[in-house]
Amino acid sequence: MTNKDLYISIIIPCFNEEQVILHTYERVHKTMNSFEHRGYELIFINDGSRDKTLELLRGIAKNDSNVKILSFSRNFGHQPAVTAGVNACTGDVAIIIDADLQDPPELFPEMVKIHLEQNANVVYGLRGERKGETFFKKLSAKYFYKLINFLSDTPLPVDTGDFRLIDKHVIEAFKSLPEKNKYIRGLISWIGFKQVPIIYVREERFAGETKYPLSKMLKFASTSLLYFSKKPLKLALSLGLVSVLVGIGLAIWVITGLLYRPDSLVPGWASTIIALIFFGGIQLLTIGVLGEYLGNMFEEIKNRPEYIVHEKINF
Ligand code: UDP
Ligand code: MG
Repeated sequence: MTNKDLYISIIIPCFNEEQVILHTYERVHKTMNSFEHRGYELIFINDGSRDKTLELLRGIAKNDSNVKILSFSRNFGHQPAVTAGVNACTGDVAIIIDADLQDPPELFPEMVKIHLEQNANVVYGLRGERKGETFFKKLSAKYFYKLINFLSDTPLPVDTGDFRLIDKHVIEAFKSLPEKNKYIRGLISWIGFKQVPIIYVREERFAGETKYPLSKMLKFASTSLLYFSKKPLKLALSLGLVSVLVGIGLAIWVITGLLYRPDSLVPGWASTIIALIFFGGIQLLTIGVLGEYLGNMFEEIKNRPEYIVHEKINF
C-alpha cells in the first residue's frame, strides 16, 4: 500500500471561525495538492456558528467538490462535531484537525507516511511546545492530564489533542461505540491498535479567540474524568470508611471519658458540631459523586442523538 491507494478524509469542526476558515481551507487545500493520494474529502462541520462561517463555507463548497459541509441545527460542541465528521467520512484514513490552524496541516503527508511505514492505526499529534496560550491554559492542561492519568482506568498520552490520523479499523471501532457523551482522545486511546506519536509545535491560534471558555473546559474535564474512571466512586467509599472509623474513635473517646473522667468532659457543643459538619460534608460529597454518575447515566439512557444535522452540502 502506498500514498496513491489512499482516499483521505479531513475532518474540521468549526464554531464561529469566520476569521480563519478561508486561510484554513487554503492551507489544507495546498497541502492536499502537495502529495499523492487516491483522492480526498474535506468535511467541515459547522457547529451552529452565529457568524459568517457557514456562508463562507458554502462559497468554498460551490467551487470545490472535494469540500463537504455538515451544518448542525445549533451549537452542540467540539466533540459532537468531530464525531459527526467521523461518522460521515468515507476515507481509508481520516485526519481530525482544528479550524484555527493551531495544528499545522503541512504535517498531513508525514502523518500518512508514518501510518504506512510503521503500520500505525493511529498517528496522534504530540504537542512539543505550545505557543501563545495563556499561562493558565498551559498550567490547567498540564495538571488536567496528570490528574486524568492518575484517576483514569485507561492511560492517556499527555499533551495530545484531537489532532490525529485514524485508519479504517479505528474509524469502524469508533463508530461502534454507543456512548453519547464522547471524550474522543480518551476513547481512541481505549480502542487500542498501534498508536504512534508525531511531535509538533502547537502554534498560536491564527485569528479569533478560543471557543473553549472555562465553562466548556470544565464540562470537558468532567466528561473525561467520570467516563474514564471509577476512582471518584471508590474515593467516596474510602472517605466514608475513614469518617466511620473516626466516628467510632470519637465515640470510644467520649464513652471512656464519661466512665473514667466524668469531670474532665465539658458539656460543650464543639465536638458535636465538629462531628456534624464532618459527617455532613462527607455525606454530601459522596452523594455528589453518586449524583454525577447517575446524571451521566440519565443522559445516556435518554438516548438522544449526539447532534442534529440541519443541512448537508456536497454529500
Ligand atoms: N469548536 C466547535 N464547537 C464548539 C467549540 C469549538 O466546533 O463548541 C471547534 C473550533 O471551531 C475549533 C476547535 O473546535 O476548530 C477547537 O476549538 P478552540 O481552538 O477554540 O479550542 P482551544 O484550541 O482553545 O482549546
Ligand atoms: Mg484552538
